[in-house]
Amino acid sequence: MERLQKAIAQAGIASRRRAEMYITNGEVKVNGVVVKELGTKVSASDTVVVKGIEIQKEEPVYYLFYKPRGVITTVSDDKGRKTVLDFFDDVEYRIYPVGRLDYDTSGILLLTNDGDLDNKLTHPKYEVDKTYVAKVKGTVTIPELKQLRDGVMIDGKKTAKASASLVKPGDDGKSSIVSLTIHEGRNHQVKKMFDAISHPVQKLSRTDYGFLNLNGLTPGEYRRLKPHEVEQLK
Ligand code: URA
Repeated sequence: MERLQKAIAQAGIASRRRAEMYITNGEVKVNGVVVKELGTKVSASDTVVVKGIEIQKEEPVYYLFYKPRGVITTVSDDKGRKTVLDFFDDVEYRIYPVGRLDYDTSGILLLTNDGDLDNKLTHPKYEVDKTYVAKVKGTVTIPELKQLRDGVMIDGKKTAKASASLVKPGDDGKSSIVSLTIHEGRNHQVKKMFDAISHPVQKLSRTDYGFLNLNGLTPGEYRRLKPHEVEQLK
């Protein structure tokens, strides 16, 4: 989703300021309806008509990215930190991340310019399974794994059923490596779930997103999704 005046400006029809003027003058329609509100959000699936001319939509594109640690999941950062889009400098499309991974989390992240798919994948009703591998403090016991599976209280609400298994004890003897699959997407959910069982996360990586995984990619690399993968996600 992006601001209407930005979408118009990026389509090359007018400067951002002129686009704003067209909007406030009532010369812009979104899906057939005049929109005068600056800042109205539109996605690639919306039809935008400016002074009777439809602006060109980009073809939808889909990328699978192996996000490294120390990278922020936004399109720009006012603190000058590296963003996921810095890895896509040679990509012309106006893509953005689907959901987010924390700054210090690595792993699989989708980027697209397809607002419909973004909405679907991040909607609680359709939430896809996401698998994380976490290195956590201390030795996680079998009853604690069961707690994670059954649901723990975070922010006053119980988490949905999940899968959790011990991959191995940590090499240092003071930590555990745990695989956790959730289908919700609450804020910092995995870290909060481990906090709830008193095993704070020391290192986190997302290895799977639905049927997609990171095979063949190293941190910082990306690939286009194959048409059949896109179909399967939709
Ligand atoms: N849960 C978290 O706590 N952090 C992430 O980056 C993703 C899920």
